Amino acid sequence: MTGDCVASAQVLAAWKGFRAFACMACAMWSLAGACQAAQPTYRVGETIFIETGVEAPDRSPTWYAAMVARPYAPVFEMLATQGTQGRYYPYTYPVTLKDLARFHGHDCEGTTHAANAAWVAFKILFPDGIIDRSVLWGISGESPCWSDAVAYLTGARVQYGNLGFFKDKRYSHAIILYRDDTKVAVLATWRQGINNIPGEPVMLPEKVTWLPKITMKDVEALKAVVKKAGGNPTPYQVDLMRYQQWVHVNDILGHPLEDSYQAKVIRDFKWADWIDSDKTMAKPHERSDTRLKNYPYRGRPVEGPQ
Ligand SMILES: [Zn+2]
Repeated sequence: MTGDCVASAQVLAAWKGFRAFACMACAMWSLAGACQAAQPTYRVGETIFIETGVEAPDRSPTWYAAMVARPYAPVFEMLATQGTQGRYYPYTYPVTLKDLARFHGHDCEGTTHAANAAWVAFKILFPDGIIDRSVLWGISGESPCWSDAVAYLTGARVQYGNLGFFKDKRYSHAIILYRDDTKVAVLATWRQGINNIPGEPVMLPEKVTWLPKITMKDVEALKAVVKKAGGNPTPYQVDLMRYQQWVHVNDILGHPLEDSYQAKVIRDFKWADWIDSDKTMAKPHERSDTRLKNYPYRGRPVEGPQ
C-alpha cells in the first residue's frame, strides 16, 4: 500500500469514527430531549483533505523538557490558517510539551498538567485528531502555567475575548475548552490521586487506579511553606519541591493520560456563567486571521488576476 493509500485509509477511518461518535452523541442528547451540537466547520475526507502526521514531533529530551520522551507524553496535531488573512493549511503540525515549555518560558508541573487535561478534552472535541485553532475558546485558573498552555494549544487570547479565567476558584486546576462551530464545551481536570493542591477539591468524580510515587501526603506540608506568600522555606525545601514535581510529571507520563485525567461535556454551556467578568478586556480586538479560512481559490492552479 502506498503512503497516499495509507493516509486516505486513515482519513476515512477517522471520518467513520467521527460519524459514529456524532451519531452516538446525538442519540444520547436526543434521549435527554435536545441535540445541541451544531455541524463542524469541515469533515476530513469529505469536505476537505487535511494531511496529518506529516512532520515528526520533537520528542528529543533536553534539560528543560526531559518528560517529552516519556511513553505517554502528548503530541498535538494542530491546524492553523495561512498567515494573517489566509485559508486553512492542508496540513497539520505537531506540538509537544517541549514546544510548550519554550513558549511558556520554563518547564513546570502546571503546563504539563494543563496540556494533559487538554489532551483528554481534545479527544472529545476533535474525534478526527486534528485540533482546529480557529474555533477554540478556553478557560483556566489564574496560574500562567495553565493559561499559557490553554492559549498555546487553542489560539485563544485575552485580547480576542476567547481566553478567560474561572470565576469559581475551585476550578483553578481545571480547564474548559469550547468549540464555537459545534457548540461543544468540555471540562477537563486531573483525577483524584495526582492532584496536589492542599485544600482544593477535584471538580470531576474520577480517581486514579494506579499508585503515584508522589502523593498529596508527600507535598502538603512542603507546599504550605514553599508556596505560601511571604513564606520562608529553607533552600533544601525549595529544591525538594522542584524534585518532587519533576518526579511527579515523569511518573504521570509513564501511564495512559486517561488514567490520570478526566473530561466531561458541559450541557447548555454559557461562557459568561464560567468566567470572571472582572478579568476580561472591555473592548476585545476583532480576530482577523481566521476570517478568510474558507475563502474560494482561483479558478485554476495557475491563473493571473481576474
Ligand atoms: Zn510554569
